[in-house]
Amino acid sequence: MAVEMRKGKFDGDRAAALLKELRVSFASGKTKSYGWRVQQLKNVLRMVDENEKAIVEALRLDLAKPKFEAFVNEISLVKAACKHSLTKLKHWMKPQKAKTSIITFPSSAKIVSEPLGVVLIISAWNYPFLLSLDPVIGAIAAGNTVVLKPSEISPATSSLLAKLLKDYVDCSTIRVVEGAAAETTALLEQKWDKILYTGNGNVGRIVMASAAKHVTPVILELGGKSPVVVDSKINLTVSARRIVAGKWGCNNGQTCVSPDYIITTKTFATKLIDALKHVLEEFFGKDPLQSKDLSRIVNSSHFSRLTKLLDEDKVSGKIVYGGQRDETQLKIAPTILLDVPEDSLIMNEEIFGPLLPIITVDKVEDSLNIINSRSKPLAAYLFTSSKKLEKEFVEKISAGGMLINDTVLHLTNPSLPFGGVGESGFGSYHGKFSFDAFSHKKAILYRPFIGDVTVRYPPYTPRKIRLL
Ligand code: NAD
Repeated sequence: MAVEMRKGKFDGDRAAALLKELRVSFASGKTKSYGWRVQQLKNVLRMVDENEKAIVEALRLDLAKPKFEAFVNEISLVKAACKHSLTKLKHWMKPQKAKTSIITFPSSAKIVSEPLGVVLIISAWNYPFLLSLDPVIGAIAAGNTVVLKPSEISPATSSLLAKLLKDYVDCSTIRVVEGAAAETTALLEQKWDKILYTGNGNVGRIVMASAAKHVTPVILELGGKSPVVVDSKINLTVSARRIVAGKWGCNNGQTCVSPDYIITTKTFATKLIDALKHVLEEFFGKDPLQSKDLSRIVNSSHFSRLTKLLDEDKVSGKIVYGGQRDETQLKIAPTILLDVPEDSLIMNEEIFGPLLPIITVDKVEDSLNIINSRSKPLAAYLFTSSKKLEKEFVEKISAGGMLINDTVLHLTNPSLPFGGVGESGFGSYHGKFSFDAFSHKKAILYRPFIGDVTVRYPPYTPRKIRLL
């Protein structure tokens, strides 16, 4: 994968030249072959295997991401996506037989998955390795040429990706453009065959507007406030561990599907908070700011954004655990807040950090109305042993994905589509869904010359009309 080096400005002309080059490569037909796809996927896998240390180090520099998290949440998921595609690719590429109808008798039909052409992947900083390579793997598997634009907010991973990929994969078909809004804007001016964007909804709207000019389809992987409903009929210890692991054990809350807020009953809140506190101390010690197992906040502007949420007058008195911060290290301790007002900033913006407000209701069923009164979340979680509540939750809540009695892990299952709904985005990927996301399903009907039924041809005589 060649890198568009930062020699001079990466402007519209350079973006157009890059795209032209990739179109020539696509037109050569080489990316369509099974052999090319397999080779590139194997190259990506080898690249990850041979450079694990450097990847862990880049993630440490960008986010102080603990080595364990770097492995489990980024490296191993990229490897799993590669291996899954390699195992399934032949089957995915096979044309699918389709049924035919009496109207076209005699005929046969099939659906052929064809690559779209030249695709653009714009990724975000919080899982900068995974969110860059996971869609690239899908685009390669589907036989496309690709431009990857990693996030400038995680510069160590962005430059590592650019440096490594150029040595491992076919650079006449797969390229990296490093840079920020200006470079992305130059890319977005071009006509792509598909764009997959991961990030916030404001930029998502910019991406969508640019794509609309060229009728380019987009996948928007956005975020939102993912709620966790906690019933009292649960295994409290296991539930507390799973909430803490999904919130603070995943990039210290800087995860798109991170538990954003909890809803529980007034009578259960104290028990739940005690259990969460207990697990937090067990996981991160009495002084979490010193814990090596918590990522830092990515940069000072996100640090200020989060402290602003915490310092808002109507919220600051509601902290029941944590609240410590260290600006020099960009660290914020796991923080729990109880009964913050619904009109507070923290309840109206995606938190994307280590703060967890808990709001309380009289009956756990009341939580469904609260969730439904807000934008559709990327993930919705429920902890309960009640089958009735579980059923109601699945039926009444619309969310990108759902997980009952755990958090975050649903996105590791390649058999489940990963994507949002409503303001949390649209389109999905992972596993076969990635292959489909970057393929066009071409419908083909085959007709022999024999058995030509002439009734459909003019003139439409009264006899033919009577047949209707
Ligand atoms: P970010 O700042 O890294 O931005 C994402 C990308 O947009 C970057 O590549 C950046 O260069 C580009 N960009 C920024 N400003 C731009 C502009 N004006 N014009 C064109 N391109 C521009 O990431 P972020 O937006 O801070 O990411 C956090 C958000 O992303 C959260 O809302 C989170 O929930 C969401 N997210 C979603 C997923 C998912 O898979 N659904 C994953 C991670 C993050």
